[in-house]
Amino acid sequence: MPELPEMENYRTLLSEHILDKLITGVVVNREKTINTTTDVFVNELTGNCIIFVERRAKHLIFHLANGKRLVLHLMLGGMLFWGTEDERPDRSTQVEIQFGDHTLFFIGLRLGYLHLMTSKETEAAMADLGPEPLDRRMNQERFASLLKGRRGTLKTTLVNQHIIAGIGNCYSDEIAFAAGLRPSSKTQHIVSSPELTERLYHAMQSVLREAASEGGYMEMPLMQGDSKTGKFDEQCRVYDREGETCPRCGGTIERVEITGKKAFFCPKCQHEA
Ligand SMILES: [Zn+2]
Repeated sequence: MPELPEMENYRTLLSEHILDKLITGVVVNREKTINTTTDVFVNELTGNCIIFVERRAKHLIFHLANGKRLVLHLMLGGMLFWGTEDERPDRSTQVEIQFGDHTLFFIGLRLGYLHLMTSKETEAAMADLGPEPLDRRMNQERFASLLKGRRGTLKTTLVNQHIIAGIGNCYSDEIAFAAGLRPSSKTQHIVSSPELTERLYHAMQSVLREAASEGGYMEMPLMQGDSKTGKFDEQCRVYDREGETCPRCGGTIERVEITGKKAFFCPKCQHEA
């Protein structure tokens, strides 16, 4: 599932192309993807334009010129493509938003959604999310206070959207690796040590920043000629690398289940807190 870095990469690239462009048409192939009737959706969007793209957790929020929002969550398997009719991806699309000769294609939205909302509804939908890990107001002290009193493991804490928003299965493992901590470590034990908390905080910041600037791990470019999107895929150190060699110590990466979630780690250089 796309996480903060993937969506941040999309936000950056899309902002270079779609802002202030007139929406000339909309195609809805799967009404379940949206939250209104196709007629209402098409009428609201056509003739409108997107003036700003925001990311919150794993969502993209497209701000429309009329004050409404389009809230996108890709969930599992969702992706975007920006291109002309000639460049149309060879995949079924659920929604297409046309901007003159270019179209934003929404692909793989089986579980994902694109909802039309007022700003108030958007705010309410995001109300339960924890703070953004890369927000300017985030710091080590605040991070420690978020973890304080949390039971459970490092893995379950990092993927809990109510505690910190935007981290999922892949980056929780990458962050744990960067911090030299096992995903099964007890959060309580980490937060009781200022040194471990600091290590974890810096690992979170550096992994998410690096992955976002390297385009995340998406499997398909966002547009033709886009060599950035997905570049981080080959740089994942442990995620989905069971049996491979640890790039840090030469150990063998293992896969475990932690409360129903798969986690990858190196048993040689990652330690239990
Ligand atoms: Zn290792």
